[in-house]
Amino acid sequence: MGLSIAIVGSGPSGFYTAESALEKWPDCTVDIIEKLPTPYGLIRYGVAPDHAKTKNVAKSYEQTALDPRVRFFGNVEVGRDVSVAELRERYDAVVFATGCATDKKLGLKGEDKHGVLGVASFVNWYNGLPAARDLAPDLGTESVVVIGIGNVAVDVARVLVKTPEEMAATDLMDHAAAIIHKSPIKHVYMMGRRGPLHAQFTNVELREMGHLKDAAAVVDPAQLPEAIPEEAKKEFSERQLRLIQRNIDTLKDFAKIAPGGRTKRVHFVFFANPVEILGGERVTGVRFEKTRVDGGRAIGTGEFFEIACGLVIPAIGYYSHPIPDLPFKDGKAINVDGRIEKGLYAVGWIKRGPSGVIGTNKPDGDTAAEQIAADIPAGSGKAGRAGLETLLAQRKVTVVGFPEWKIIEAAEVARAKPPAPRRKFATVAEMISMLDKQTAAAPSPANATT
Ligand code: FAD
Ligand code: NAP
Repeated sequence: MGLSIAIVGSGPSGFYTAESALEKWPDCTVDIIEKLPTPYGLIRYGVAPDHAKTKNVAKSYEQTALDPRVRFFGNVEVGRDVSVAELRERYDAVVFATGCATDKKLGLKGEDKHGVLGVASFVNWYNGLPAARDLAPDLGTESVVVIGIGNVAVDVARVLVKTPEEMAATDLMDHAAAIIHKSPIKHVYMMGRRGPLHAQFTNVELREMGHLKDAAAVVDPAQLPEAIPEEAKKEFSERQLRLIQRNIDTLKDFAKIAPGGRTKRVHFVFFANPVEILGGERVTGVRFEKTRVDGGRAIGTGEFFEIACGLVIPAIGYYSHPIPDLPFKDGKAINVDGRIEKGLYAVGWIKRGPSGVIGTNKPDGDTAAEQIAADIPAGSGKAGRAGLETLLAQRKVTVVGFPEWKIIEAAEVARAKPPAPRRKFATVAEMISMLDKQTAAAPSPANATT
């Protein structure tokens, strides 16, 4: 008898696990359970709207979803519509691929002020996550401080300063474009608590900042090393050193290029650890302590400075909210290389924490499949898909299947104004109502006239 596998979450790690399972067991069934009506996780709601090519990876996930052994249960939230225990009763193996969606906190005085905006909410808002639809961030300021120098920080800085023309061929939400493109933002400060050697952004993303129409990338050459110091070289592999050198070369280029007529600036500032968010009810600035780096750690120098701003975006990483009945610690599922316990597994960011690019999640799928094979040699005859369908029908959950998602997707593409590739629905209600109208309009097989 074939194994029945439930995968919770339809981001990269969920789809890579499905792929691995389908390859390993020709007779298995794989059900992908997703809380949103839409698949693909951060590919849809995280990856920047102007990085359309990156989103193309979803085409390979679609092939997996269309495999006859796979069923997509969209609009079904584990912990709300069905419990972990109920899934385990019905499936031979349950794999959690639910990611990390919540902002880490700085833990600083003043963090609760109006004008401090977690990067997860901001990114979700401009990318159209339904839960973030009504964020309406106040971008009425000339200066923004982004804390952190990872790729998410770079994404946000770029989206804030790109012109409407540069964003025309993207799926940036209309509600976000209306606010971002009217904002008076002139300066975006990207603040690293360590130096350029320890920046987390990758070179392709950094170089992009040197090619913006109306924004110049600015860096103080005094913060860049002549060469990577011998002492620091011990910390890194040869490959890392090559990547670091590329970043330093790019930053040196930024330091040389004149801003020309460009009216906006993205400032890369290193060796600056935030210590307090300043202001009254509203943010007016951030206080930083200058640092030096020793053995890879930022050490405070006792010297302080302030940057005036009306908006602070901490882009310092994510954590995962606990899911009821799943053992959690430090924002991740408690697991040993993905195994939570026999029959229960974790992959992707909920397993490893919030780091790594899309492809980093692929080996997690293989590992999960190997662990399932070791733990559960054969299917046990549990109710599997039919059992879940019955339960969800009893609870009157409106399940959005993969064919319905394709209808949503087609409608999003049809209502986009070229060159925009799609205009996403902003709420779940809009998606469901569109599907209802389509179903009502379609002739039923009984009265179809052929
Ligand atoms: P996710 O992609 O977050 O997927 C988790 C899924 O689980 C979601 O669909 C969620 O709705 C669902 N879910 C959560 N809870 C439940 C529940 N209780 N019940 C049912 N479903 C649930 N990498 C790149 O290579 N290139 C990029 O350009 C890039 N851009 C990024 C931009 C941002 C802002 C971020 C944060 C990350 C970016 N990454 C990028 C990294 C990449 O997105 C991640 O490595 C990857 O998405 C992690 O995959 P995941 O499957 O673990 O999580
Ligand atoms: P990240 O790469 O871990 O970067 C987080 C940044 O925040 C680092 O600069 C970190 O500094 C800083 N930071 C953390 N805690 C801080 C604190 N308390 N005070 C000040 N600074 C702090 O995380 P991310 O940018 O969220 O990206 C997550 C993953 O997604 C990464 O693997 C990234 O590559 C990937 N991603 C990829 C792309 C792409 O490929 N285009 C786009 C977006 C995201 P320290 O280094 O000093 O800790």
